[in-house]
Amino acid sequence: MTTLNIRCGTCRKAVHPTSGLLWADLTDLPKPPDVAPARWRIAHYECAPEMGASAYSIELTRAATYSELLWWTAHLSEKSWLEDTTWMSCMQLTAETGVMDFGPGWADLGSLSTDVGGDLPW
Ligand SMILES: [Zn+2]
Repeated sequence: MTTLNIRCGTCRKAVHPTSGLLWADLTDLPKPPDVAPARWRIAHYECAPEMGASAYSIELTRAATYSELLWWTAHLSEKSWLEDTTWMSCMQLTAETGVMDFGPGWADLGSLSTDVGGDLPW
């Protein structure tokens, strides 16, 4: 199974599947009148923030091929909050580019989170 090219949202360098994770912070789920979805992010372990209990994280060793991403999409589709995250946009972009790049990282969350809609801005 072909491993996808994966890019760290923090340092913007390639991430080997054994070296990082992807996650969404569920405290970022939209609360009316805020409609910005919670962003999924990718980072090396050393580039990622401390994961709180509200983070839904997935090791890249379990999410680095198309078939693994398809499995996670099916699994996450059972979560009531999935549509309030950028997962589907991230999957669409990954399918179109062949690269898992969920955009710039967690540190600049504030500046980007308000304008992420159905399509990602990068
Ligand atoms: Zn990094």
